[in-house]
Parts: sequence; structure tokens; C-alpha cells
Amino acid sequence: MVLYQTMKTLKFKLYRHKRNKSLHQTINAAGMIYNHCIALHKRYYRMFGKCVKKAKLQSHIAKLRNRNKFWQLVGSQAVQNICERIDRAYQLFFKHNKKGFRPPNFKKVKKYKSFTLKQAGYKFVGGNRVKIGSRVYQFWNSRLIEGKIKTVTVKRNPLGELFFCVVVDNNSTPEIKSETGKIAGFDFGLKTFLTCSEGFLVQSPQFLKQAISEVKKASRSLSKKRKGSKNWEKARKHFVRQHGKVVNRRRDWFWKLAHQLTEQFDVLCFETLNLKGMQKLWGRKIGDLAFAEFIEILEWVATKKGKQLVFIDQWFPSSKTCFHCGHVLEKLELNTREWRCPSCSNVNGRDENASLNIKRVGASTLGLDSVRQGLPASVV
Ligand SMILES: [Zn+2]
Repeated sequence: MVLYQTMKTLKFKLYRHKRNKSLHQTINAAGMIYNHCIALHKRYYRMFGKCVKKAKLQSHIAKLRNRNKFWQLVGSQAVQNICERIDRAYQLFFKHNKKGFRPPNFKKVKKYKSFTLKQAGYKFVGGNRVKIGSRVYQFWNSRLIEGKIKTVTVKRNPLGELFFCVVVDNNSTPEIKSETGKIAGFDFGLKTFLTCSEGFLVQSPQFLKQAISEVKKASRSLSKKRKGSKNWEKARKHFVRQHGKVVNRRRDWFWKLAHQLTEQFDVLCFETLNLKGMQKLWGRKIGDLAFAEFIEILEWVATKKGKQLVFIDQWFPSSKTCFHCGHVLEKLELNTREWRCPSCSNVNGRDENASLNIKRVGASTLGLDSVRQGLPASVV
């Protein structure tokens, strides 16, 4: 049950430059190729009643590309990648269409966002410069690129700014160090971001709450404008900027928090995230997948520092099980913050109790005895 994340996505912003126009054109061309693939898929399906095979589509599109100057802006690998993406989307659709998955569909070229390169088509030429295609671009060199580069994706956001994302595989086997000898369990929550079994809470910082309320304000103002008008465009840009601010600030905070927690503990236990279930339970509030993002960052930091993350089974009833005697409640309402155990009559705080259970289960999967320190005598 011990998981290590060795793949990591690093995002860099490109400097503004008139040369960037050619990247925009490449993304546009990729969007046209994408739409062409979708059209082929649809036609093929109408004629033969089945999905066109990926390899067939790839070789067909490669042939067309040879005859089309504009398409050639997109490197051959990136073209292959477009076919792969569509294929994956169709697979998902066929597998889950009963659950409401939609098949991939045409996209406005203006709204098309990215293209992806694998081994070829880019080169880091030292410092903050990267060669994509035949041109060299400069980027904000905010982080060291370590590990083996798997893919490079050039993206544009709704403001027309360009980024590139590097997926690296840092495949060094982590060496588990025991510095603090400490293990802790954590429970995620909406009100309190994390409840730690060691008796402290991690709240979302105030600045983040403020930034989020700014986003809400911007979104309200946008919805009042007439779509397509000048004011609407202004409000849209404002909204996108505010939203970007939240995302960036939150990410910064996640990195800091990940470093803090891995300083304090050697082993950190969490419940496996069931994001679909959480969304159902809590509605759209966590639709932004912030928890998943935090876990990804934490995994990265933990691997770097030789710390261990343990994910316990998502079906383990961590909230409903009494930490003191093991009694399992039949039912626990979401808004019940505290409950008295009918078996041992201890009063359990919902989140504290859950975090202690997560710690205990996490420790037992590792076969750790040290966790028994700090447990009440009755359960040791
Ligand atoms: Zn009990």
C-alpha cells in the first residue's frame, strides 16, 4: 500500500515575444488536426459501426500531413499524440458511457489549448532557453528540471499566455530515512484542511480565503455582462487572472506545508482519496481537486526527503470507528462533529478520531510497533 510518485509535472511560463506567434499557430494547427481526426472518427463510425483503430488513424493523418504545409507546423510526434489523446477519450467513453461520459467532440480552434512532444522536437539549450521546433524561446526559470524528461507540452491559457509543462520521471529509489521516528495520521476536511493525529489542525490560510472571495466576486460580475461585449471580455480577463492567483498561491502554500509536515514526521498516513465520492458528498466546492494536487506535491517532497506516505483503504470507516475500543457506528451524519461511543462512552471528535484511526491502520500496514507509543493503554 506504499505508493511513490516519481512522475512530476513542472510548469514554466514563456516570456512574451513576437516570436510566440508561431507557437500559437502551431496550437491552432494542432486544433485543426484534432477536429479533422474527430470528423474521421465520426464518419468511420457511421459507415462501419465501430471505432477506427489508433494506428490506422495515425498513419492516415501522417500521410495527410505530408501534403499540408500548415499541418507541418505540428511535429510528427505531436500529431501522433493528438491521435492518442482522442483514442484515450474514446476508450473512456466506451467504458463509462453509462455513467454519463461524453465522446470527444469538435473544439473551437481558438480554444484549443496545447500540443505535446515526446523525445523529439524540443531541446534545452542552456539557461532559461528552450528550442521548440526551429525557434528558441525564453522562459521564467523557476525550478530545476531534474530527472528524465518524458514529455514536453506547450500550453496556452485563456489570456493567450504561453506555458510549457515538462513531465519528468525522477526514478531514483527513495531511501527511507528515520530522522524523527514519528508517524502521523491525517484527515482531510472542508472546514479544516487537515486534522493531524498528533493534536494539531492545519487551516487554510486567510489570504487564500480572501483570494477565493475575489474569484467569486469576479465570477458574479462576469455573469452580469452581455456575452461577447467589451465589458464582458474585460470581466472575463479579470476573472481568469483572479483564478490564476488562487491557483498559484495555493500551490505555494502546498509546497510550504509539504515541507513542514515532512520535517516533522517520517511516515505520514492518509486515506486514499475518492474524489468522485467526495464531490458527490460535498458538491462542487472541492471540484477543483485541491486535495489531489496537495497529495501530488507531498509525494514529490516526501520522495525527495526519503519520507514515507501511506494510503489506507478508502473503504475503511475511519470516521465511524471508535479509536478507543474499535466499536463501529452504523451511521454517522456528515454534520455530526462529535459523538459518544455507545460501547466505551468516550467522546470522539469526528476528525481527530478519524486521523487517529488512519494513523493506526497506516502503521499496522507497515508493521510498525513504535506507533503504540502515545496510544491509550487500553488498546496496546
Ligand atoms: Zn468506543
